[in-house]
Amino acid sequence: MGSPFDNLPEGTRFGALFLGTGTSVGVPMIGCDCPVCTSADLRDARCRSSLCLWLDGRVLILDTGPDFRAACLRWKVPRVDAVAITHLHADHIFGFDDVRRFNTIQGGQVIPCFAGPETIAGMRRIFPYISDAPNKIGLYRPLIAFTPVTGPFEALGATVTPLPVVHGNAETFGYRVDFAGYSLAYLPDVHVIPGETLALMRGLDVLILNMLRVRPHPTHLTLEATRDYAARVAARRTLCTHFSHDLTHAELINALAPNEPAWDGLCFAVDAP
Ligand SMILES: [Zn+2]
Ligand SMILES: [Zn+2]
Ligand SMILES: [Zn+2]
Repeated sequence: MGSPFDNLPEGTRFGALFLGTGTSVGVPMIGCDCPVCTSADLRDARCRSSLCLWLDGRVLILDTGPDFRAACLRWKVPRVDAVAITHLHADHIFGFDDVRRFNTIQGGQVIPCFAGPETIAGMRRIFPYISDAPNKIGLYRPLIAFTPVTGPFEALGATVTPLPVVHGNAETFGYRVDFAGYSLAYLPDVHVIPGETLALMRGLDVLILNMLRVRPHPTHLTLEATRDYAARVAARRTLCTHFSHDLTHAELINALAPNEPAWDGLCFAVDAP
């Protein structure tokens, strides 16, 4: 069996697959027996948030959290050609070491990692054995070209635009990806979207936006703010992610409508008409 991308409509050039849709602790949470954490609905099991983009046969990964390896196995991620990191929180980076398997199966291909300058500096600090320098000591480590992002850049034939947002104290970007005439923006961890960033999100086909829970939270979007931003951006389709254990998938469908809750393994064509 191949990856979910194999099941996209014939001719799809721009696809997306959710590797995880959960908040930092994941759902189920350790030691919780609430109705969501014990739900039999597979869509209520949420790994740490990550998105896999299919760009004409090449793959861009947005965030490599602690569940990255398990998700690659479960969803049969076929390859990784580039990685972009939104911010330096553990739930978005602590699976980064597992990128090395893709270096190996792709014949030693060096994989670029794009992120904001502070995030890159932090990645180098947290993973000091990963560097751009030649591998002299035979350590099995990821082969990475760290690339600080200070503005729009090209990756795998796509134009990628960083979308600066406010999320606690960490330098945090969402990313807008324009490819084959279609566009998707991914903002998994957000508290406030500045006006200048909203201006970069015009004309989107797909918006993927943080919705943590209904109750207020100091660093994340909650239901009313998510609904409000989604209405302002007015993408053709809006999906939400980075959920806590407060609501079941079935409850999220009602709470978010006309926006949609994503779930782990959801795969779709961004270039669907
Ligand atoms: Zn997060
Ligand atoms: Zn729970
Ligand atoms: Zn975060």
